[in-house]
Amino acid sequence: MTETADAAEPLSDLSRLCIHTITTKPWPIEEAIEKYAAAGVAGITVWRDALKDRDAADIGETIRNTGLKTVSLCRGGFFPARTERERRFAIDDNRLAIEQAASIGAPLVVLVCGAAPGQSLEVSRGQILDGIAAVLPDAEAAGVKLAIEPLHPMYAAERSAINTMAQANAACEALNHPLVGIAVDVYHVWWDDQLETQVRRAADRDRLFAFHVCDWLSPTTDLLNDRGLMGEGVIDLPRLRRLVESAGFRGFHEVEIFSERWWAMDQDHFLKQIAAAYLRHC
Ligand code: ZN
Repeated sequence: MTETADAAEPLSDLSRLCIHTITTKPWPIEEAIEKYAAAGVAGITVWRDALKDRDAADIGETIRNTGLKTVSLCRGGFFPARTERERRFAIDDNRLAIEQAASIGAPLVVLVCGAAPGQSLEVSRGQILDGIAAVLPDAEAAGVKLAIEPLHPMYAAERSAINTMAQANAACEALNHPLVGIAVDVYHVWWDDQLETQVRRAADRDRLFAFHVCDWLSPTTDLLNDRGLMGEGVIDLPRLRRLVESAGFRGFHEVEIFSERWWAMDQDHFLKQIAAAYLRHC
């Protein structure tokens, strides 16, 4: 592959660093907001589990008062199901996600699109398109964007039938709506030899909505909760950042790490490590 991306500037501050609340899961959201802001982090992506038993509008105000920017809400999706009743339930849940995003002031809902064991990935992809189309009027009314996040193929059976940037681009092109784009997560796409072409395909149509970072540990011991901190694994993060930025992406670099190992540690220490690893390895 030819490397045509221009060199990205090294990162010198935290002004584009966003952290997903799931990354510091042991902290209640109020504590995460306070600690991120105090550490000089610029943005926050709110996971819906962190809003449990909270008033979303209140949380939104708390975030704004600290000066943090709400980058997105994670997550909607999970559209495919074997029965129509379940598919309708998923659509209602996505309507709720859009409403919650609007309440906290998040401009974007990230979609983990879903898959249903027992039906083909092709059928699931059709149901994903139908599901997104069904909630687009709600997204329009709320002014909230939707980002399809392609998931690594190891999740194809249960979590997403959209596994590559090419499939995410095809879904966006089928829906052809300015509010529908893509969340590029390095964990899911770092291995893809079509990445550069597909990032440009998305960027050319203004569909690069989000950029998530972490690292791929080798060996990985758990399919879900063994993500690495940037620099701990095998992903060439500067190359991937260069790739999206040379294509025109100017949004946040969002740290999204699910890790039993890091969750078991002191989270204040972890937050310091995140900031240091971000400046050093992204
Ligand atoms: Zn992600």
